[in-house]
Amino acid sequence: MGLPSDFHLHSEHSEDSTAPMKSMIEKGIELGLLSMCFTEHMDIDYPECPDLPAGSFILNTDSYRRDFLANKEIYKDRIDLHFGVELGLQPHIVSENINFIEKNDFEFIIASTHIINHTDPYYPEFWKDKSDKKVFEEYFKESLTNIKLFKNYDVYGHLDYVVRYAPEKDANYSVADYRDLLDELLKTIIYDGKGLDLNTKALYSGMKEPNPCRSILKRYKELGGEIITIGSDAHKPSDLAGRFDLISDLATECGFDYYCTFADRKAAYHKF
Ligand SMILES: [Zn+2]
Ligand SMILES: [Zn+2]
Repeated sequence: MGLPSDFHLHSEHSEDSTAPMKSMIEKGIELGLLSMCFTEHMDIDYPECPDLPAGSFILNTDSYRRDFLANKEIYKDRIDLHFGVELGLQPHIVSENINFIEKNDFEFIIASTHIINHTDPYYPEFWKDKSDKKVFEEYFKESLTNIKLFKNYDVYGHLDYVVRYAPEKDANYSVADYRDLLDELLKTIIYDGKGLDLNTKALYSGMKEPNPCRSILKRYKELGGEIITIGSDAHKPSDLAGRFDLISDLATECGFDYYCTFADRKAAYHKF
C-alpha cells in the first residue's frame, strides 16, 4: 500500500462525491491506513458549468462536522481521523474565504485553484479555441494571484492539476516554459511557510507524473521548501491511497526525506 496517511480525500459532503464517510473510513482501515484527513470542497461563487448550476460546491459545514465527529467517535480505536477542507480560491472572493476559514475549526486547509477567470477547465468546452500552453500559463498566473491574496491555508493543492484536463494531457506541457512564473509561485508558498499537496490522482488515472510533477517538486525543495502532504484526492473508496506505493521513491528522488500530516493546523514530520 505504501504510506499510511491520506491527507486529501472527499466524501458525500462534497458536491462531486456520493461516498458516505463511513465507506471511505472502512476502506482506509482495510488498507491499513493509520490516519486520514477529509478535505471536503468549499468553492464560493462557483461558475455555472455544463452539468452544474452556478453556486455549486457550497459546503454545509455543520452537517459535515456532525457526521465527522460521530464517525471519529465510532472509529477512535482504529484510525486517526482529521477534519479538513479544500478551499477553492478566486481573486474576487478573498474576504469571503478569509471569513469562512476564521469562523470554522478546520485542522488542515488545502487551498486550490479550480477556476480560471470564472470558468472551469475541467470541462472540454473550456479548451476549444485555446492552445494547451496558453491555458497552462493562464492557470499558473491565476494561481499566483490567488496565493498572493490569500494566506490562511496549510498546503497548496495539486499545483499543476490543469494538465490533467488538457485535451492532449501533458503532451504540450514543459515546466521550463513557465520557469519564472512557477518560481514566483513556489517562492511565495515557501516565504509564507506553506507546503504542497503531493496529489496522486493523475498517477492512478494513467499519467506518469503526480500533481505537481517531479520537476516542480524538485524545484520547491531546491528553493527551500520542506512541507509536503500526500493525498489521493479520492472521491470514492476504491481510489483511496491510490498509487501510494510509488510515493516514497518518487519523493526521495525529488529530495524529500519527510512528509507531513497535520492536526490542529500544525505539521508533524514523518520519515519516508
Ligand atoms: Zn481540487
Ligand atoms: Zn480534492
